[in-house]
Amino acid sequence: MVVSRASLPAWQRRLLASGSVALDVAHTGGVGDWVEADLVVDEPALAYWLGVLLEREVANGSGLQDFRMLREALFRCGRSHVAGGSFRRRDVEVLNRLALGPVLPAWMDASGAVVLPVAVVDQALAHIAREGISLFTGPMRARVRECTAEDCGLLFVDASRPGRRRWCSMARCGNVAKTRAYRGRERAVIGGGVSR
Ligand SMILES: [Zn+2]
Repeated sequence: MVVSRASLPAWQRRLLASGSVALDVAHTGGVGDWVEADLVVDEPALAYWLGVLLEREVANGSGLQDFRMLREALFRCGRSHVAGGSFRRRDVEVLNRLALGPVLPAWMDASGAVVLPVAVVDQALAHIAREGISLFTGPMRARVRECTAEDCGLLFVDASRPGRRRWCSMARCGNVAKTRAYRGRERAVIGGGVSR
């Protein structure tokens, strides 16, 4: 059974809400400051998290090393991009190599409904690599951002029409920043009163 993002605990849901599966993968741990532990510790965990990320069942299988390379490549490409830099050749090579992998199948039945067969790890990784390539080469590249909250650092795709989104999530980082700004203003007012 596939676990949906919506049923995950809040701290995990937040990591997987970037608006791009490629950036969500980069947030599963091991390479960022924001995750204490790597979520993808072994092959069963890999199948589980790929299933959550792709919203379909993924069979347990090898590919942990390729997954880690893919994740680091996506993470560094995202970070370089928000910092205004270019992508590292090694990361680009990892994405290009894994993107050559098999297609993630989606079939149809006689009634016209979609049938998603159980995917294998190689298909999932190839799909994620291709998603990364289309993000970093397509029109949404200019909308890849890093959350501006001090203690966050998550990446996200700003799909808002004005394109001025600053936080990964309003519920967490946006509210924390607004509360801080409010307290700062309050202190400034009190401080101003004392000095008069
Ligand atoms: Zn944030």
